[in-house]
Amino acid sequence: SGEWGKVEALLKDFEEKCATPVGKLKQVADAMTVEMQAGLASEGGSKLKMLISYVDNLPTGDEKGLFYALDLGGTNFRVMRVQLGGKEKRIVKHEVKEVSIPQNVMAGSSSEVLFDFIATALAEFVATEGDDFHLPPGRQRELGFTFSFPVKQLSIASGTLIKWTKGFSIEDVVGQDVVGELAKAMERAGLDVRVAALVNDTVGTLAGGRYNNPDVIAAVILGTGTNAAYVERAHAIPKWHGLLPKSGEMVINMEWGNFRSSHLPVTEYDQNLDIESLNPGEQIYEKIISGMYLGEILRRVLCRMAEEASLFGDYVPSKLKVPFVLRTPDMSAMHHDESADLKVVGNKLKDILEVPNSTLKMRKIVVELCDIITSRGARLSAAGIVGILKKLGRDTFKDGEKQRSVIAVDGALFEHYTKFRNCLKETMKELLGDAADSTIIELSNDGSGVGAALLAASHSQYT
Ligand code: ADP
Ligand code: MG
Repeated sequence: SGEWGKVEALLKDFEEKCATPVGKLKQVADAMTVEMQAGLASEGGSKLKMLISYVDNLPTGDEKGLFYALDLGGTNFRVMRVQLGGKEKRIVKHEVKEVSIPQNVMAGSSSEVLFDFIATALAEFVATEGDDFHLPPGRQRELGFTFSFPVKQLSIASGTLIKWTKGFSIEDVVGQDVVGELAKAMERAGLDVRVAALVNDTVGTLAGGRYNNPDVIAAVILGTGTNAAYVERAHAIPKWHGLLPKSGEMVINMEWGNFRSSHLPVTEYDQNLDIESLNPGEQIYEKIISGMYLGEILRRVLCRMAEEASLFGDYVPSKLKVPFVLRTPDMSAMHHDESADLKVVGNKLKDILEVPNSTLKMRKIVVELCDIITSRGARLSAAGIVGILKKLGRDTFKDGEKQRSVIAVDGALFEHYTKFRNCLKETMKELLGDAADSTIIELSNDGSGVGAALLAASHSQYT
């Protein structure tokens, strides 16, 4: 009983506003390159913070010993220990434990509550260390702390939180040294561990990626949020007034989620999502691309179609009005539904939105919307990567010297949302032409945890 003419019109309008033809993507890539330059030139020179990571050497493979890693940055928080065996033995043993962070800790709690929660979980994990892990007698355990929010790094092992993103909001942590806060909490928990490195997850992924493949030059996160890091030539960082590192290189955490440009296809649904978010006006690129938001964009379009065009009949499912009720993994499941009657879509509509009897016509609209939203996100992600390649002069095919560029990608959105991943890779080919042959987008599963442990090893007090 839907007003199909109106539904079609809303769909067509949305599709047009989300369009990302190659010409537009090239403009986005160019804008990314320009903003990168501006962010490197001066503090506050761009929406892109282009943060200096203090990582001027990536893992070599020689790293040895027992190291811990702790990953805070999304819905789950992870603790990990790794026994590193050097060039021959590589990763001898590796254990991970995942803990979900209660909503009331993530938002509205206090620094003490958050860090006590983390330190307690870490202490419990350390207590289960088995005989197959070896810490030389008299040594302190060391940890790489992956903290996936914008941090003004003060050294390799300290840095202050600039702002929260991705649904976190704990006011009194902003401006604090997160390593200091963690250290105090570990002391309260009676845990003797030294934080040897504070790294963004992008930097951890880059380190973990390089450990496995020497051609890795950048890392991208596509999970709850999105971000990227890459290896820059130190002399190309005008705002860096410190000593030039021996390696001549510095890893830059772009904080690309905060990128924005007039070339980005932003719809009224995106604008409303932004206004009603915890961080209005910020992380605009992230809000179009990443896992936290794709399902929510879909919900907003469906809600409007239900209200204005009776998509689901002459009532608006009340569940459809609940922000974030449609999650990206559910959207992905619907998008990949291969059954003739779109059974998966029907079940999701029933279970999540309490639409009991959806018609095939309704279900097809849902799948089309998934495709529009996800293609836009994946194509814009590809444009961002091309922006990095351009900055490094690696976007064109150079005769004779076929320099390989590997991008290590981590995050459940890229890993599990197959249509997103395929679309991103296809778009790289559209944008790069011949040069696409020497550009490799590689899944780096949980590279950030191992990467943080590796960076703890290379910044150990004992080496
Ligand atoms: P984080 O980014 O928080 O460190 P992940 O890399 O695990 O963690 O990403 C989690 C995000 O990935 C979730 O918020 C969700 O949006 C998205 N995601 C998880 N599973 C899937 C899936 N099967 N399909 C699509 N997206 C998924
Ligand atoms: Mg992560």
